[in-house]
Formats: sequence, C-alpha cells, structure tokens
Amino acid sequence: MKKETRVGVGEPISGWVVETGQPLFVEDVETDHTFLSIKKSNISRGTLISVPLKAKDKLLGVINVSKSVPNSFSKKDFDLYKNLANQASIAIENARLYKYAVTDEMTKLYNHRYFQQRLDEELLRADRYENQVSLIMLDVDHFKKFNDTYGHPEGDRVLKTVSKLLESNVREIDIVARYGGEEFVVICPEKDSGGALAPANRIRTAIEGFDFRINSVHVPITISLGVASYPDQARNKSELVTRADTALYYSKENGRNRATRFNSDMNIEAVLQKKKAK
Ligand code: GH3
Ligand code: MG
Ligand code: MG
Repeated sequence: MKKETRVGVGEPISGWVVETGQPLFVEDVETDHTFLSIKKSNISRGTLISVPLKAKDKLLGVINVSKSVPNSFSKKDFDLYKNLANQASIAIENARLYKYAVTDEMTKLYNHRYFQQRLDEELLRADRYENQVSLIMLDVDHFKKFNDTYGHPEGDRVLKTVSKLLESNVREIDIVARYGGEEFVVICPEKDSGGALAPANRIRTAIEGFDFRINSVHVPITISLGVASYPDQARNKSELVTRADTALYYSKENGRNRATRFNSDMNIEAVLQKKKAK
C-alpha cells in the first residue's frame, strides 16, 4: 500500500534532517543526547537511521529506517542507507530534470521537442506492428483577435483550459503536446485518419461547449483541426505533419470550428505557399 507522510521542516525527527541536511544515526533513542535534544516527547524505544535525499544542494526528502530494539543497526547499515539515499537522489533528480526538459512550462503538456522525438518513435512502432498512426493538428480560431480584445493573460488562461480539455478527451495512449503558440498536436497510435476523426471532433465539441468566462460573461472559444495518418496518407514524418497541417488549413478555409481529414485531392503546395506568404 502506498502511504504518504508529510513532515514539516524543523519537525522532529525527519524535519530536523531536512533542515540540517545531515544524516542521523541513533543507536538507542532513549540515551542518545543529540536525539533527545531534537525530540523531547513521545519517545518510544529503539534505534533509528534518518538520511536526507539531496540533489546538489536541494533537499528532496528523507529516508527513515527504525527498529524497536536498540542497537540493532551497525555503522555499516548507516553507510548503506547513506549510499542508497545518494543513488535514489540521483535517480529522482534525473527524473525531475527529464520531466522539465520535455514539458511546456505554461500548459504542462509535452513540448515541441518531445513531440518530434515521440512521433519518430511512434512511426517506427507503426512500421514494426504494421499499424496506422494518426496525427491531429489543431489551432485556436481567431486567437490574435482574442488577445487584442481581452489581453494576453486571458489568452494564456484559454491555452491552459484548451490543454486540460485536450487531455481529458483523448485516450491514455494518445500523446498531447503543444506544437507552439496556440497550436497543439495529438498523436493517436493504432488509429487511421478516419478513426482519429472521432477524437478530433470530441475535442472540438468539448472546447466549443466549454463555458469559458471573462468577468462572468461567456466567451466562445473554438478550434480548427486537421487529421492525417501514416503510412496510409504519408510516407514519413515530415509528410505526415505537412498533411495534417494541410487538412487543418482546409478547416480554417471552410469556416473554422471543424475537423478535416486529409485527402489526396487537397492541394498541399498551395497551402504551403499561402502559409509562407502569411
Ligand atoms: P486563425 O483562426 O487563422 O488561426 O487566426 P489566429 O488569429 O488564431 O492566427 P494568428 O496566427 O494570426 O495568431 C495567433 C495568435 O496567437 C497570435 C499570438 O499572439 C497568439 N499566441 C501565440 N502564443 C501565445 C501564448 O502563449 N499566449 C497568448 N496569450 N497568445 C499567444
Ligand atoms: Mg496559429
Ligand atoms: Mg489560430
């Protein structure tokens, strides 16, 4: 069973270890002077090791080990736990740094770099299992006007809300990322573009139906989406991205607040040229 214990800084005994950053080895809690000076009441018999989890100078937590029989740990045990704490701290810090490196700070979604890397992996997986993988690209409609009307901070709030709605309207295995600015992407493994049109429309209606308010007044937000799949509709990653983007462009051209599936009649070159001109 997972159990969470929170200890306030300065609170005996873990709190003391957190505050000082020092490991503590108490062979007998009833006679150890240091221990008794930290913890003055509620002392039960036994022995105790408490070691801080430290990454560089940052404290991440504390490992506590105790036994109700005094003197049941040796100096060797103490060294072992200090070592363990070092290893664990490195692992925790690496995980934290990794999360930081792949996360978009504002929306907490995956960032562009992670998306690119993950899409490479998903294409390889699709090859290996002879599956389809779809890409949904989406863009908030008339967002420049929204910013101009309500201000950038309100715009940021919209992007955070959109991000939450994206996450809650896709499957566990789908990968949602911020592509950049007010553009987002969803990788849908094991779905062709027809299949991915369902989540695309689910996302679209969820955002359209969300009661977004500014000063208690409802402000409608909509998005446009484009869907394409690999390997049915694209031979590689860059084609997949361009084709989902082309479909998205058709959604914009045809009135916005809609999802469009790529098809080979679409004029990719014309879309690329128009985008360049913009
Ligand atoms: P369209 O419907 O064609 O997509 O129109 P649009 O106005 O959304 O498109 P355009 O690309 O002209 O403008 C995108 C706007 O998104 C402009 C930019 O200021 C805004 N934007 C991009 N990133 C952020 C952000 O992080 N926060 C806020 N508040 N606005 C952003
Ligand atoms: Mg845009
Ligand atoms: Mg836009």
